Amino acid sequence: MPYSFDLSPGQKIYLDNPGALTSITLASAGAGQQQQSSTQVSTGPWTEIPQIARVGNAVLLRCVTAQGSFFWQIQGTQIAAAPATAWATAQATPMQATESSPPIASVLPMTPLPPMAPMRMGNMEMSLNPMTMRMGKMTLGPDLPTVNTPKFCTQCGAAIALGNRFCGSCGYQLS
Ligand SMILES: [Zn+2]
Repeated sequence: MPYSFDLSPGQKIYLDNPGALTSITLASAGAGQQQQSSTQVSTGPWTEIPQIARVGNAVLLRCVTAQGSFFWQIQGTQIAAAPATAWATAQATPMQATESSPPIASVLPMTPLPPMAPMRMGNMEMSLNPMTMRMGKMTLGPDLPTVNTPKFCTQCGAAIALGNRFCGSCGYQLS
């Protein structure tokens, strides 16, 4: 049965005891990223529920097995063995049993794509900004009716079939 502890929103410690190993996994979920560091130590089977204690800005873990007590310190994303003298019994609380395992195989959360910037390929520019179309002295903007008006590519001047959004001659995107 794995145990877990929420260090902070998005950061979780998992402790498991497969075989005679103590497996510590630190999972941090940031902005669309998931980082994980873990360590495995041969400790023997636990004889007590693992405990956790916050000391300053670090977190201490304690596992008790037939071989003795084992201590680790977690600071940031680092997991390191800690001396027994660092253990703070007053702050210690037992960890909570959890059904879930460390999210090793979990799917990364989708992050929304940043707004699309105008795309430039050579001298062709595609953008979502309102476009104006110029024909001779007449300028058609997005607020002016363009229905039934013959269209010409603003880039190369080729005639555009009604309903086409791209110039069939040069590929220029039309409004
Ligand atoms: Zn064109």
